[in-house]
Amino acid sequence: MDSQNSIFNLSLKELENFCINNSAKKFNAFQIMKWIYNAKIYDFNSMTNISKPLRECLNLNFNFKMPEIINSSRESGGEGNYSIKYLIKLNDGSAIESVFIDYGKRKTLCVSSQAGCKMLCNFCTTGNFGFQRNLTSEEIISQIILIENELKIKITNVVFMGMGEPLDNLSEVKKALEIISDANFIGIARRKITISTCGIIDKLNEIKDLKYKIAISLNASNNYLRNQIMPINKKYPIEDIVKFISDGKYFGHNKITLEYVLIKDFNDSINNAKELIKLFSPQNVKFNLIPFNKFDIENIGETVNINQKQFENNYERTNETVYNNFQDKLMKAGFVVIIRHSKAQSIYGGCGQLKGSA
Ligand code: SAH
Repeated sequence: MDSQNSIFNLSLKELENFCINNSAKKFNAFQIMKWIYNAKIYDFNSMTNISKPLRECLNLNFNFKMPEIINSSRESGGEGNYSIKYLIKLNDGSAIESVFIDYGKRKTLCVSSQAGCKMLCNFCTTGNFGFQRNLTSEEIISQIILIENELKIKITNVVFMGMGEPLDNLSEVKKALEIISDANFIGIARRKITISTCGIIDKLNEIKDLKYKIAISLNASNNYLRNQIMPINKKYPIEDIVKFISDGKYFGHNKITLEYVLIKDFNDSINNAKELIKLFSPQNVKFNLIPFNKFDIENIGETVNINQKQFENNYERTNETVYNNFQDKLMKAGFVVIIRHSKAQSIYGGCGQLKGSA
């Protein structure tokens, strides 16, 4: 066993305690974190404002180990836009995926919060691969660091829409976000960070005041349909989502995004759009319509134990005329509606296509 911990796994508070316990100043923790996350210096000996004894003590206790990028595939989106899907190996051998999307000035990283997922939404590839484990805050943060360093760019936006359910790993996600959103460290403003959830209402209540953007994967306009595709709906049905949103005076001008995967002949009719109009108000929510992405069946490794039944659903993507009509209907009712043509689709880096293998 390695007796050293990765320094990336410590919160500011934890590093402060370490400094105090080792005869250094609380403020040294802030300086060290600034070196690491702001100046990207991964060597205690180069931290010139840190005393020699403290540097020695840090060297004895911590390393700069991070997960490793082991594969990447790139898709050009035209006009200089592109996306890259990264396969990242964690220290215990499990693998996760992150997707970088370069779109004009916006450089977005779609990060994973778990290896696999427990939520079992049956239209989602990740869900069909089962759950391995929660990521640590270090593993969440290192997705940003690794990819910024690899591409020599600054990430401007982070979305928790990769593998996993962020609210099912909330303590590590929150710990990572403290460093990611701190202007002195990674420095991505909270309004540029989106937490996307299948709708775990109790946990949503815990983050509602933290000023991150919230997206809820609704994906159906009534409980009968939602129960068929998202098991979480049995615990937190659509009424709970409606109530959470209408109670939410705290959202201010930051509307909640409702994500809605359009599946052909399942949830894409004008009647479904009408049901949505009855449930929600344009003051509180905007819609993100996502044309369904097919599973990457050909590339599923034999060693992976998938729930074969889920793949027999044969879901298809809604055709363009139908989703344009769906969008029109919602827009005429006053909603802001964006159709999210998943970037990175040809490299299976689109929404719901991440599975943690090459
Ligand atoms: N667990 C979180 C975040 C991961 S999923 C959540 O549920 O929000 C990110 C988004 O991808 C969700 O909105 C989900 O509904 C969508 N998605 C999942 N599978 C998809 C697929 N096959 N095609 C299109 N979007 C999909």
